[in-house]
Amino acid sequence: MKINNADTVPYLTYKSFESIDFIKHGFTTRLGGVSKGIFSSMNLAFNRGDDKEAVLENYRRICESIGLDFNSLTASAQDHHTFVRVVTAGDCGVGITKPRDMESVDALVTAERKVTLVTYYADCTPLFFADTKKRVIALAHAGWRGTVGRIGEKVVKKMTEEFGSDPKDIKCAVGPAISKCCYEVDKACADEFYNLSDLDTSEFIFPKKNNKYMIDLLETNRRILLNAGILTENITVSDVCTKCNSSLLWSHRATNGQRGTMCAMMCIK
Ligand SMILES: [Zn+2]
Repeated sequence: MKINNADTVPYLTYKSFESIDFIKHGFTTRLGGVSKGIFSSMNLAFNRGDDKEAVLENYRRICESIGLDFNSLTASAQDHHTFVRVVTAGDCGVGITKPRDMESVDALVTAERKVTLVTYYADCTPLFFADTKKRVIALAHAGWRGTVGRIGEKVVKKMTEEFGSDPKDIKCAVGPAISKCCYEVDKACADEFYNLSDLDTSEFIFPKKNNKYMIDLLETNRRILLNAGILTENITVSDVCTKCNSSLLWSHRATNGQRGTMCAMMCIK
């Protein structure tokens, strides 16, 4: 991944998505905002106890940095489900300047210009989608529940059903998220990943001696996307672990939950 505007309001981009000329995208960091204390400084969550005005100012700053219209933002209301919602210009402002009207939505899809999708992260995996033929975009939040619930596949299905997308035309980017170096889980959680029995689980579950398991969330999501018909060459996987880079990125585990929240953002120009 590439870091942009590192000295002011930094954000990350994928080279593979920069080359898609009809979109703008970015993934925020914990730097460049005005929030204080445990939220210092770029926190984009309204629901973790931060000052609302500071969060709004953070949105204004990151929008200016990425080149997005503040009034075009549409945020998800994530709670680790796998519902996918299509949004339009009428949804702009939802979750930012207008109340949330979307419960249990962990993925957003749009085919409209100037509607900026916003989803939230602090270790969980962002999934970016862009159908380069039909010009449809999507963002999904894949924590472990969303991952084993195959939210990636559900987004591809939604794009196919609602917009006639062909999976072969969809480019995807996975991450940044807590990576296999740091993502340790207990047996109950690992068993949920073993239930993905149509996939080669040995590629993303790594048992340890202490009855714990290391999970590769990124690889799990990559394999789910391949299974959904996305081409290998159209999937980019992040090389940045949120926990290993917790001075740049918010990590729930690195901070024991005393943290702000980052966003993935994407719009059709
Ligand atoms: Zn790590």
